[in-house]
Amino acid sequence: MTKIRVSGFSRESIVDGPGIRTVVYSQGCTHHCPHCHNPSTWDFEGGYELDIDDIVALVKKTGLLRGVTLSGGEPFVQAESFAELAARVKAMGLDVVTYSGYTFETLAEMAKEDPSVARLLNATDILVDGPYHHEERDLSLAFRGSKNQRIIDVPKSLQEGKIFTLEF
Ligand code: SF4
Repeated sequence: MTKIRVSGFSRESIVDGPGIRTVVYSQGCTHHCPHCHNPSTWDFEGGYELDIDDIVALVKKTGLLRGVTLSGGEPFVQAESFAELAARVKAMGLDVVTYSGYTFETLAEMAKEDPSVARLLNATDILVDGPYHHEERDLSLAFRGSKNQRIIDVPKSLQEGKIFTLEF
């Protein structure tokens, strides 16, 4: 059974992407953004492990979900496990929102070297990208903390070879 190290999860959220979503918060983050809202997620030895099977079972039991959000910490440092979870979420007919402190451009470069990063990026419908910049904090923004972060339509951006952002 594949395991994911998480700091926690939220069974139903309306603030982590469109619609009602289950949110899985990964444990471990390399970015260390100043004023990070949740520095307890940085430690790679922190949090606890969950079986992907158990997360999938929970998602199946939760009605009215539009999708699942993979949030930070940094999901792409556990790209292999999160890619498997994302594929199983998609197989249920749900969509995947992924948060990353890496930009889309950096992830696209990383994906050339790391098949797990490529799989997770390809399974992501919407990417909220980039580190948190406290000086660009804006509480009025939907689904993100600072203005530099973008809400990206990943399938369209990958297909067209340029970035398409979404407005909410
Ligand atoms: S990427 Fe997210 S979890 Fe990681 S330090 Fe930045 S704000 Fe915190």
